Amino acid sequence: MEAESREWGQSAPLAGKVAVVTGASRGIGKRIATTLAKAGAHVAVHYHEAQVEALDTVARCVGYGTRAVAIQADVSQEEDVQRLFLEATQLGTPSILVNNAGIAHYGLVMDLSLRDWNRVLQTNLTSTFLCSKEAIPYLRRAEDGRIINVSSVHGLRGAAMEAAYSASKAGMIAFTESLALEVASLGITVNAVAPGVIDTDMLKGFSAEEKRQMQTETPVGRLGTPYDVAHVVRFLASPDSSFITGQVISPNGGRLP
Ligand code: NAD
Repeated sequence: MEAESREWGQSAPLAGKVAVVTGASRGIGKRIATTLAKAGAHVAVHYHEAQVEALDTVARCVGYGTRAVAIQADVSQEEDVQRLFLEATQLGTPSILVNNAGIAHYGLVMDLSLRDWNRVLQTNLTSTFLCSKEAIPYLRRAEDGRIINVSSVHGLRGAAMEAAYSASKAGMIAFTESLALEVASLGITVNAVAPGVIDTDMLKGFSAEEKRQMQTETPVGRLGTPYDVAHVVRFLASPDSSFITGQVISPNGGRLP
């Protein structure tokens, strides 16, 4: 007989858990942080440069009655990542890691510099490796660990003008599948979320007309919001998903590139 605590749809499924969310000062990461806090988690709000926005995320998390702290780090640097986790332990032992920080780069491959290629791969993919590696001992200790990687539909199918970004996001999916097999016996699940077009700062290079076009091409008739991603992450962070690992869930409104 299953314990009642495993019943689906508990109001605070993450009560007492500690989550580290990278790139949580704005956009999707901010909504992931506040959604996890609303579900009861204490949240380490990682940011790169935007301290004021990160403190706003912290205030919103605290508003849900949990604890939260803002921690600065460049997640493509190993020493920064080690410090990020050490500082996060002031909230308790982390059991949830969301690798959300990421950057896009638009342009043809023949115009793409090695510097920009490396910057995108380091920020999106190397950071996922570094944070996951650093997280494993903590998540293992917590006995019910979760790693959730924010990839993209462009990791499922490459996009023209976004080769570095697509390669980094496809790499995150392969990394997710590999790591899931390695750490399943440690009580850690590893999954990826592959969002479609989500209306955040990442789209600021597109005109209103281009955004309208994307909306028209999306079968559900609207662009995604950060909440569309955050709700999937909350599910993957919760006890309800404990039998799911090495998978990719794509909130994309029915539209693949
Ligand atoms: P955003 O630009 O608003 O947020 C990106 C976040 O990453 C910011 O908080 C930024 O500070 C952080 N970041 C960037 N470089 C960093 C570095 N070196 N070290 C630490 N943090 C760094 O964009 P968003 O749409 O909220 O993107 C969040 C994630 O979702 C990204 O991984 C992105 O690739 C992914 N995604 C976005 C969309 C979309 O349409 N917006 C679609 C699919 C996937």
